[in-house]
Amino acid sequence: SRDKQQGSEIARSNEILSEKGSVRVAIRVRPLSSLERSNCGKTCVTVQPPDTVVLGKDKSFTFDFVFGPEKSQSDIYEQVVSPLVDGIFKGYHACLFAYGQTGAGKTYTMGTTWCKGSINTSHGMIPRVINDIFVRAKAEMDSYDISIRVSFIEIYNEDIHDLLKFYNPSSENGNVLFDGSQKIGIREDEFGNVYVTGIHEEPVQSYEEAMSCIETGSLHRATAAHDMNQQSSRSHAIFTIIFTKTEKGQEGLKEKVTSQFQLVDLAGSERAKRTNASGARLKEGISINVSLLALMEVISVLGDQQKKGSHVPYRRSKLTRILTNSLGGNSRTAMIACISPSDDSFQETLNTLKYAHRARNIENRPVINHDPAFREIAELRKQVQELKQKLMDK
Ligand code: ADP
Ligand code: MG
Repeated sequence: SRDKQQGSEIARSNEILSEKGSVRVAIRVRPLSSLERSNCGKTCVTVQPPDTVVLGKDKSFTFDFVFGPEKSQSDIYEQVVSPLVDGIFKGYHACLFAYGQTGAGKTYTMGTTWCKGSINTSHGMIPRVINDIFVRAKAEMDSYDISIRVSFIEIYNEDIHDLLKFYNPSSENGNVLFDGSQKIGIREDEFGNVYVTGIHEEPVQSYEEAMSCIETGSLHRATAAHDMNQQSSRSHAIFTIIFTKTEKGQEGLKEKVTSQFQLVDLAGSERAKRTNASGARLKEGISINVSLLALMEVISVLGDQQKKGSHVPYRRSKLTRILTNSLGGNSRTAMIACISPSDDSFQETLNTLKYAHRARNIENRPVINHDPAFREIAELRKQVQELKQKLMDK
C-alpha cells in the first residue's frame, strides 16, 4: 500500500509537470509514380503552403504541416520528427505513425525497410531518429550516461510477431539464433503505461547496430510471408526505441529518465473500409483489419469534442492497446498521412484526409517519465534543506 501511495504521488507530480499538446498531423503527397505517369495519370491534389491541401477543385483541408511531392525526407524530419526527439531527451514518450492507403508512401517515409549506409536522401524517419539520438547523445556524454534498446514487432491478423526474436549479432549463422519462444503479452503498470512483454529488446551502441536490427527485422518480415506486398500492406510494424538517460554523479543522487519512441508503419488504410469488405474483397480473401478499424474508433472518440469523456475503446485491438500511451496519453505524437497525387486514388485520398483531420483534435498530455527513486531523493533533499534551515534559524 506504501507503493500505491507513492505511485499516486508520482502520478500527481507527473500531472504537474505535464504540458498540453495535441497530436500533430502532417500530410505528405508523394510524386506521381512512373507507372502513373505512363498511364497519363492526372494529379488531383494541390498543396497550398504552408498548411493546406486541396483535393479536386474545392475540397480543402488544413493541417499542422503539408508537404508536397518535392519535399525531402530531411524536410519532414526537421519539421515533424526532430521535436519529438527533443522530447525523448527530456523524458517524454513519443510516437510517430504513418497512415494511408497501400502505395501512398508509408514505408518509404518511415524507413521501415533496411537502407544502405549512413544517412542519405533516401533514408526515412526511423534511421534519422536513430542517427539523431546518437549524435545528440554524444554531445551530452560528459554529463549523462545514455543507453538505448530497440524492439521491432509486427501485428498481423491480431497476432504479435517479434521481428527480432531470432536476433543475435554474434551468432555464427548470420543474425539468426533459433530461440524466442517466450509468450508475447501486453501489460499495464500502475501508472497506466502499456508495455509489450516477452519480446526481444536489443541494446544498441551505434547507428550501425540499430540499422542491423532493422535489416534483420525487415528480412524476417519478408520471409515469413507468402506474398511480401500483401503481408506488408496488411500488417502494422512497430519499431520502438527505449531511451534511458542517467545523470553522471554520485551513486543515488542521479537523475534518471526513461522514455520510449514508438514508430509505426500502419497497414494500408484501404483495409479498414467497412463497406467494401464484402463481395469482391471477401473473394480475394482480404478481411477487415481489426486493429486499423479500432484505431479509427479511438481516433474518432478522442477527436470528437462532443464525445469528450466517453469511453475510449483502446482494448478493442492489439494495436490500440500498444499505442494507448501515444493516443490521448502521456506522449508527444505526430501522424504523417501519406497520399498519392493521382486521380485514380481520389476516393482513398479523401478518406485519408478526413481521418487525418480528425486525428488533429486529439489531446495528449505529455509528462516527463522520471525514475520514482529520483523523485524520492529529490523530496529527501528538500527535507534536508528545510531541516538545515530550521537549525540555522535557531
Ligand atoms: P506504402 O508503404 O504506403 O504501401 P511505399 O512506401 O512502399 O508505400 O511507396 C510506394 C512506392 O512509392 C515505393 O516504390 C516508394 O519508393 C515510392 N515512394 C513513396 N513515397 C515517395 C516519395 N516521397 N518520393 C519518392 N518515391 C516515393
Ligand atoms: Mg508499406
